[in-house]
Amino acid sequence: GNFVPPIRSNGSNIGNMSSRAKGKGDDALDESTKACLEMLCGPDGELPEKLRNLEPRLIEHVSNEIMDRDPNVRWDDIAGLEHAKKCVMEMVIWPLLRPDIFKGCRSPGKGLLLFGPPGTGKTMIGKAIAGEAKATFFSISASSLTSKWIGEGEKLVRALFGVASCRQPAVIFVDEIDSLLSQRKSDGEHESSRRLKTQFLIEMEGFDSGSEQILLIGATNRPQELDEAARRRLTKRLYIPLPSSEARAWIARNLLDKDGLFKLSDEDINTICKLTEGYSGSDMKNLVKEASMGPLREALKQGIEITQLQKEDMRPVTLQDFEHALQQVRASVSLIELGIYDEWNKQFGSLS
Ligand code: ADP
Repeated sequence: GNFVPPIRSNGSNIGNMSSRAKGKGDDALDESTKACLEMLCGPDGELPEKLRNLEPRLIEHVSNEIMDRDPNVRWDDIAGLEHAKKCVMEMVIWPLLRPDIFKGCRSPGKGLLLFGPPGTGKTMIGKAIAGEAKATFFSISASSLTSKWIGEGEKLVRALFGVASCRQPAVIFVDEIDSLLSQRKSDGEHESSRRLKTQFLIEMEGFDSGSEQILLIGATNRPQELDEAARRRLTKRLYIPLPSSEARAWIARNLLDKDGLFKLSDEDINTICKLTEGYSGSDMKNLVKEASMGPLREALKQGIEITQLQKEDMRPVTLQDFEHALQQVRASVSLIELGIYDEWNKQFGSLS
């Protein structure tokens, strides 16, 4: 509802920004950067205050690379995780849809942590939130801030929060947030990563206290590495566990169904569920991929050329294909790791 249609500016304060493009003249900004800045201008044709002192190329990077124009995940694509979905609905989606009701005592936290083993749907939840709440979705991996943007991460963080505030309601999804907000000893920490962390916390503090409709979602496989300051700002902490047996069945069925390959009986599916105890959602995806290669390999063994192969030449995927695939694709999360998540959840998690 807060979207402000862009108005073509005649370069009023965009022109000034060219000077930041390495001291060249007004024409130093190329067309794509100019177009990108113009999209962020307010009704008065001016760039919002927050963006004025930032380097145009960073703003452009945020708008073109970090802003995801089509998150393309629906709530219904996510198997299981009922507790997490219910919490997210209350904490995030309703407040973004009805800011008038969710104020005062009902004002929601602005930071959400999704933690748990890799490949369990944390990123999917982030994308689904943006889709359901009709919010702009920004997605960045914290490790890219520390590795790819060495020395510039701090500026990029400012640009990220600056652009997000022009694109409200906005969801900023930070994957591997532990690598940004970890409790490493300060003397062992590089000066630049300490500055980056401080900048990030300052930005979070800024929108947490204001009325901005920005939600920060951090995802991590290593919640135990987050420091106290990070935990404090990520007020709701949801455990995203391995999928239940029903959720595993759903993932397998859904993936095969999409390609018209699902022909398994209920009994076969039950057997697959028993054999995949401990598999994550992405392990299941890899398993289905491997199993669906079975009919293809068999058809080729019978002498059909790959270039001549028709869909009808392949038999449906069977339980045996899954049994073979299970030898190739093993569970990627260990019991020890699961114990760590359970402990952390008991201590810091938002239980039901
Ligand atoms: P992470 O928890 O590491 O962010 P992702 O959300 O990126 O995991 O999931 C990786 C892939 O695994 C997804 O693209 C999807 O195919 C599959 N997957 C994981 N969890 C689920 C789930 N709960 N429901 C459906 N698919 C899932």
